[in-house]
Amino acid sequence: MNDCIFCKIVAGEIPSAKVYEDDEILIFKDIAPIAKIHLLCVPKEHFAYLSEVDAERADLLGRTLEKIGKLQQKLGLNDGYRLVVNQGENAGQTVHHLHIHILGGESLPWGK
Ligand code: 5GP
Ligand code: ZN
Repeated sequence: MNDCIFCKIVAGEIPSAKVYEDDEILIFKDIAPIAKIHLLCVPKEHFAYLSEVDAERADLLGRTLEKIGKLQQKLGLNDGYRLVVNQGENAGQTVHHLHIHILGGESLPWGK
């Protein structure tokens, strides 16, 4: 087992507030929310960066976006939301397991 925090959350070794789970993704609440709704969507498979995406992972990410769209009502996101994927140092990525931030629940300011 590696020491990736999100792998440990996926494995249930670190508790999380799960809002959705299936065989390939997990969505849970961010521990330090920056919006009224701040969820993290992670593929269960460990990889850190989009540069590691092959055709199979591209399909997985496509299904993941489709799933988020289908879940938006259940997640309370019908008024709109923002998806963010931080990649590397300049983006401030702190957990090196690819994840999609799902931000919503309020009007979100735009900026870098
Ligand atoms: P990044 O900066 O890598 O894009 O985002 C990592 C996110 O993971 C941060 O928003 C941070 O609050 C969240 N996070 C870090 N550790 C944990 C944890 O143990 N549990 C949960 N639920 N979120 C975490
Ligand atoms: Zn991981």
